[in-house]
Amino acid sequence: MSDCIFCKIVTGEIPAKKLYEDDEVVAFWDIAPQAPVHFLVIPKKHLAAPVDVTEQDDQVIGKMIRVGARLAAENGVADGFRVIFNNGKKAGQVVFHIHMHIIGGREKPWPM
Ligand code: AMP
Repeated sequence: MSDCIFCKIVTGEIPAKKLYEDDEVVAFWDIAPQAPVHFLVIPKKHLAAPVDVTEQDDQVIGKMIRVGARLAAENGVADGFRVIFNNGKKAGQVVFHIHMHIIGGREKPWPM
């Protein structure tokens, strides 16, 4: 997708502080972190939102969760982190390339 900012992070057109990359997924620090540890894991393949995931994406979505959990542990929040996919504007999705937030290290209670 030529106008997708996360596709541009995949290609390197837009810089990002990457934690991990392989042939299928990229993880990078969120530009506006909501907690001390806040990064995103995305598939390199453009899918707009969770609702667009099909059976052929099952493997990469599982990998995103596995990679995210490992990186959470490597960044000191193995004992507690949130795994969030927003789907749609009404849920607060602003970037329409599917992404998984990993958020941890929050001192205040979680809102929900
Ligand atoms: P969402 O509300 O689920 O669509 O979340 C999109 C997330 O992407 C937000 O937390 C933004 O801070 C983050 N974000 C947007 N642009 C960038 C970027 N260029 N690099 C890193 N994170 C970004």
